[in-house]
Amino acid sequence: MPKIPISKPIDSSRCDPRLPLEALAYRKKQNPPLVTYDYLRAFNITVWLYRDRQGVQGVHVTANITIEELIRKFGPAETPDAEVGIHSEGIAGEWFLKKPHLTVLQIFTERIPCPNMCAPMLTRYFPEVPWYYYYDRRSWINKGSITPIKSAADILKSAYEL
Ligand SMILES: [Zn+2]
Repeated sequence: MPKIPISKPIDSSRCDPRLPLEALAYRKKQNPPLVTYDYLRAFNITVWLYRDRQGVQGVHVTANITIEELIRKFGPAETPDAEVGIHSEGIAGEWFLKKPHLTVLQIFTERIPCPNMCAPMLTRYFPEVPWYYYYDRRSWINKGSITPIKSAADILKSAYEL
């Protein structure tokens, strides 16, 4: 069983255990499975719990689009600055915004939503929806250092018992 993720806000209801389970299942069913150190590092899986108009709950799993995939599809970006991947929370957010009949209840994402793009987007479009995550880069950085003591891959390996 995956470990219980951190909640934000801290007093939120417990993370539905299906969310991390679905994230891990998604990783395992890819070919090749996204469970090696490199794949743990390259991908962020987000799983959102929702309720439809009939009151039926469901989960929606989304992975990020990596820089490598974008380059494969569209060729190298003209400037290195443009070589950013597309974050999973952004893709999931767009999916749910097009489906206003679905009410988002919980957002699980392996890494805490990034402060520049995803966090403000989630706060704006999905206010009141709690977040659950395993890795917050900032909490692993010692004072005066820029490199975290533990990477997302380290933490995910342990959270998923891989
Ligand atoms: Zn992001």
